[in-house]
Amino acid sequence: MRTQVGIIGAGPAGLLLSHLLHLKGIESVVLETRRREQIESTIRAGVLEQGTMDLLEASGVGERMKAEGALHHGFELAFDGKRRRIDLKALTGRAITVYAQHEVIKDLVAARVAAGGSILFGVADVSLHDIDTSAPSIRFVHQGQSHTLDCDFVIGCDGSQGVSRSAIPESVRRDFERVYPFGWFGILVEGAPSADELIYARHDRGFALVSTRSPTVQRMYFQCDPKDSVDNWSDDRIWAEMHARVDSADGQCVVDGKIIQKNIVGMRSFVSTTMQHGRLFLAGDAAHIVPPTGAKGLNLAVSDVRILSSGLDAYYRTGDEAQLASYSELALKRIWRAEHFSYWMTRMMHRLDDASPFEQQLQVAELEHVTTSETAARSMAENYVGSVVV
Ligand SMILES: Cc1cc2nc3c(=O)[nH]c(=O)nc-3n(C[C@H](O)[C@H](O)[C@H](O)COP(=O)(O)OP(=O)(O)OC[C@H]3O[C@@H](n4cnc5c(N)ncnc54)[C@H](O)[C@@H]3O)c2cc1C
Repeated sequence: MRTQVGIIGAGPAGLLLSHLLHLKGIESVVLETRRREQIESTIRAGVLEQGTMDLLEASGVGERMKAEGALHHGFELAFDGKRRRIDLKALTGRAITVYAQHEVIKDLVAARVAAGGSILFGVADVSLHDIDTSAPSIRFVHQGQSHTLDCDFVIGCDGSQGVSRSAIPESVRRDFERVYPFGWFGILVEGAPSADELIYARHDRGFALVSTRSPTVQRMYFQCDPKDSVDNWSDDRIWAEMHARVDSADGQCVVDGKIIQKNIVGMRSFVSTTMQHGRLFLAGDAAHIVPPTGAKGLNLAVSDVRILSSGLDAYYRTGDEAQLASYSELALKRIWRAEHFSYWMTRMMHRLDDASPFEQQLQVAELEHVTTSETAARSMAENYVGSVVV
C-alpha cells in the first residue's frame, strides 16, 4: 500500500487533517484501532471555539453543526451563592458553539466516505518505521492480514495512549506534566436544560459544570476523587451534590432529569516537545493534554492540523519544507497559551485540598475580579473563545 500522508488515529485531529488534505488534492490513508460505531458514539468534548466553527464551515463539514449546534454568546460563573455572566460576544465579538465531539466525528467520517477517502477501522499492531528517512512506513494488521503502508509523511493523531509519540527518540523529546489530585464525574441526562448557557460553579464542596448537548440531553460534571467509583453514586446522591454546588441563593436551580450515563475521568496537563521528528509529526492529544475546564482539547487538535495541512500543502505545491520545519514551534505557542489558561481555570474553579483557607479566599477574590473588571473579563473571554492567536 502507498499513500502520500499516512495518518494514525481517526479522532478529530486525524479525520479533519485527512479532509483538509483531500481539499488540497493530497492523498491520505487513516488507520484507526476502534470500530466506526465506537468512534461515533464516544462522549467527550462539546465546546467549539469560533475558529474551529469557522474552519469546519469553510471546509464544507459545518452544515449539521450550524443547524443542530447551540450558539452561545456567553457563560455563567457561579460562586458565593450568586451567578455572574461573562458576555463573550460583547467582550470579544466572538462566540462558541456547543456541538458534541462525536457529532463532529460523524460529519467528518461521512465527508471522507462520500469523497472515497480511505479510513481503515479496527486495525491492530500499528508500528512506525524509518521515520527519519524520506520513505517512512506504517505496519499494521487489518482483518487478520499484515500490511505495510509506505508514505511520504506519517502523522500521529492517535491520542494520549497511542504509539506515535514514543517513536520520537527520548534523546530529542522532553515531556512536561502536571497530574491533578481530582477528576470529573460526568453524567449524561435526559431532561430539560438548566440554563441557556454553560454554568461553571466554584463551591467549597468542589467544582461543577452544567453543560448541554441538545434541548433534551444535558451534560453535567462535578469534581470528584479520580479513584472513586460510579457505583458509589446513586442518582439521588448525584442530584443532591449538583444542587449543593450550583443552585444560587436567588432560587436558580439545576433541573433534574434521567441519568443515562455516568463516568469518571482523571485530569492532567501534559505537553510533549518536540512535535516532529524526521517525517513524523504529532497532532492533538498525541502531543498534549489539557484539563477539560478550559474546553481546549478538541480546539487545539483542530489548530494543530490547520497548521500542518498548510505546511503539507506548501510542500506538495512547491517542494518547500520551511513551513513544515517550523510546525512544532508554531503549534507549541498556541498550545502553551491554552495550557496556561486551562491550568488557571482549573486552579480557580476547583476545591484544592492542598490549599490553605487563605488560598481558598484568593480563588473567590479572583472570581470577583474576573466578573467585575472588564479588562479581566475580556482576557478570560479572549482565551475562552480562542481569539488569543499567538
Ligand atoms: C470528559 C472530557 C471532556 C472534554 N471536553 C472538551 C471540550 O469541551 N472542549 C474541547 O475542546 N476538548 C474537550 N476534551 C478533550 C477532547 O476530547 C480531546 O482533546 C480530543 O478528542 C483530541 O482529539 P485527537 O484527535 O487528538 O485524539 P482522540 O480523540 O483521542 O483520537 C485519537 C484516535 O486514535 C485512535 N488510536 C489510538 N491508538 C491508536 C493506534 N495505535 N493506531 C491507530 N489508532 C489509534 C483512538 O482510538 C482514537 O480514535 C474533553 C475530553 C474529555 C475526556
